[in-house]
Amino acid sequence: MQLLKEKILAQGQVLSGNVLKVDGFLNHQMDVALFAEMGREFCRLFGSEKVTKIVTIEASGIGIACLTAHAFYTEYGQHIPVVFAKKCRTANLSADVYAAPVQSYTHGCCYDVVISKQYLSPGDRVLLIDDFLANGYALAGLRELVRQSGATLIGAGIAIEKGFQPGGATLRQEGMRIESLAIIDRMDDSGITFR
Ligand code: 5GP
Repeated sequence: MQLLKEKILAQGQVLSGNVLKVDGFLNHQMDVALFAEMGREFCRLFGSEKVTKIVTIEASGIGIACLTAHAFYTEYGQHIPVVFAKKCRTANLSADVYAAPVQSYTHGCCYDVVISKQYLSPGDRVLLIDDFLANGYALAGLRELVRQSGATLIGAGIAIEKGFQPGGATLRQEGMRIESLAIIDRMDDSGITFR
């Protein structure tokens, strides 16, 4: 998506550890007009899939997921709830939740992602949304929650995929449909190259 790529080039900072900092429009301050464009694009890509639920992970996926749900409403009149998986550090999980372990890319540590059993059921057709795809741990964790619920996973919409890291290739090989709006093939001090 051209607009997103332009924002990344204009404002993205490449940090050590292969981290792209995009706090100016995505991870701290949020460019809602850009999110609306991203939402419309995900809606165009997944619009025929009879999605009943959008699942994301706190915190940075929530804004994009909400604007995607809003696009489904304005384009197709569909009311699709957004459920965000909570990140939880306590091992003490109740029987009322689906839970899966995830290793954090940016913080290194491990946490559980948790969704109440109330909000995902076998009849659901689920679209996953997230801000970044790197090693694929977050998406794999969300996929596991969907599996536990018995719902159908339609695929995943990602804002920025770092294509030089293995998550996208691995998960696609495992059969997940992933649509990324910007795929970065290379990034370093000299610049950012898109696929
Ligand atoms: P993965 O689980 O695929 O390794 O990493 C995805 C998660 O880590 C995303 O939810 C995102 O929060 C975070 N992440 C991974 N790489 C980056 C990055 O380069 N920049 C930022 N801001 N977040 C990242």
